[in-house]
Amino acid sequence: AVSMVLFTSDLRVHDHPPLRAALRATDAVVPLFVLDTGIDATGFAVPNRRAFLADCLTDLDAALRRRGGRLVVRQGEVVAEVCRVAAEAGAGEVHVSAGVTAYARRREERLRRALESAGRRLVVHDAVTTVVPPGVLTPAASDHFAVFTPYFRHWSQHRPRDVLGAPRVVRVPDGVGSADLPARRDVAGVSEGLAAGGETAGRRRMAAWLRDGIARYAGTHDDLGADATSRLSAHLHFGTVSPTELVRRARAADGAGAGAEAFVRQLAWRDFHHQVLAARPHAATADYRTRHDRWRTGPRAEADIEAWREGRTGYPLVDAAMRQLRHEGWMHNRARMVAASFLAKTLYVDWRTGARHFLDLLVDGDVADNQLNWQWVAGTGTDTRPNRVLNPLAQARRYDPDGTYVRRWLPGSAGADGGGPRPVVGLAEALDRFRQARGPARPAV
Ligand code: FAD
Repeated sequence: AVSMVLFTSDLRVHDHPPLRAALRATDAVVPLFVLDTGIDATGFAVPNRRAFLADCLTDLDAALRRRGGRLVVRQGEVVAEVCRVAAEAGAGEVHVSAGVTAYARRREERLRRALESAGRRLVVHDAVTTVVPPGVLTPAASDHFAVFTPYFRHWSQHRPRDVLGAPRVVRVPDGVGSADLPARRDVAGVSEGLAAGGETAGRRRMAAWLRDGIARYAGTHDDLGADATSRLSAHLHFGTVSPTELVRRARAADGAGAGAEAFVRQLAWRDFHHQVLAARPHAATADYRTRHDRWRTGPRAEADIEAWREGRTGYPLVDAAMRQLRHEGWMHNRARMVAASFLAKTLYVDWRTGARHFLDLLVDGDVADNQLNWQWVAGTGTDTRPNRVLNPLAQARRYDPDGTYVRRWLPGSAGADGGGPRPVVGLAEALDRFRQARGPARPAV
């Protein structure tokens, strides 16, 4: 008998429940990845993530080959391709990780129906892409937590499942055709400083982080110049690192103490956003809490948006952040907060415009984490202080006091008070505009 594993955001062989279950069920397994033309159509498959994905698939194929197998890659509409491969291989079951986006859930439903009508079975696995599956922790009166602190209290008490080792042997049946693996060098328009993808790189980074980085995290995670965060976000997004394994190993890391605690808390933020999106898929585009904002539009707003995108707002920290994004396809969390607040509150431009730009470039660009963090910063989301506005000059003094970060990305800039373009707007004027424009909050969607 043959079974199949459809890989999605879980591009690894370690700690992979669907692969483990498929190998337990049958003696031959088809590990499949579909380059889904449906995703291309959404505009989500941008160069930085396509390049990182190519690395991930190459590395996954190599890992499977070392175990006697290989990765089958197909290109086309995902449901049709899965059905076609299942028919070619004579697979009775298809194993897949549960997704949270509207797209992933529709895919799951369509797959289930299509496979069942051909007498096959879809098996969906939880706790692969998050530590705690969405829907497991809920408050008394709702299907999801809308506030982080109580969520985190429950999350901390939840015992993650056991970590699974990588299988030793993966036998893939003959005669299942595969397209060529995509190659990073064939992707045009990739950020110059983009990190390498793949499980090998991810596991290496995880090990180095647990050994050398995590212990100092509590004191340095907001220090822009120190650049001392894990940089595991893209690996978590593509699933080349397992969040469950990461949490378990962080908690067990020798002498990491407060650093491990602070780091694990950030991983809980990731689960938090995923459970919000799973319960409210529309929050990817609609305000989570409608504040009836009348965001600025028109030629002046367009010019401000362009200045923001290109890193010439005249506020060095914002401009440095936007240049890091373009150069690396990644941005420090503190810089993301300042740059996003600047667009949504100081320029008072619709958060969707900024979120789209981030998604166009971020290698870790994730529907749940990007859209909901943007909503959090814009004050339309789950933030409990929706009308707080970050001052980009005060933020620079606090988190980049000696200007290391600004100089790294804006060489030649004299720091907070010299050189560079003129500010696109004065902060006092912007604050007035924001306070006058924003009406009172309305209940959640
Ligand atoms: P670390 O500080 O080492 O944290 C470890 C991990 O915890 C991260 O890899 C990430 O998986 C998780 N994490 C940390 N902070 C958050 C958070 N606020 N929300 C959710 N997860 C978190 N993160 C993404 O993974 N994808 C995105 O598209 C994304 N967009 C963002 C947009 C905005 C406007 C903001 C303010 C934040 C966004 N984040 C996003 C969250 C955060 O900025 C990144 O996860 C973090 O900077 C990645 O760097 P790191 O891996 O070194 O993080």
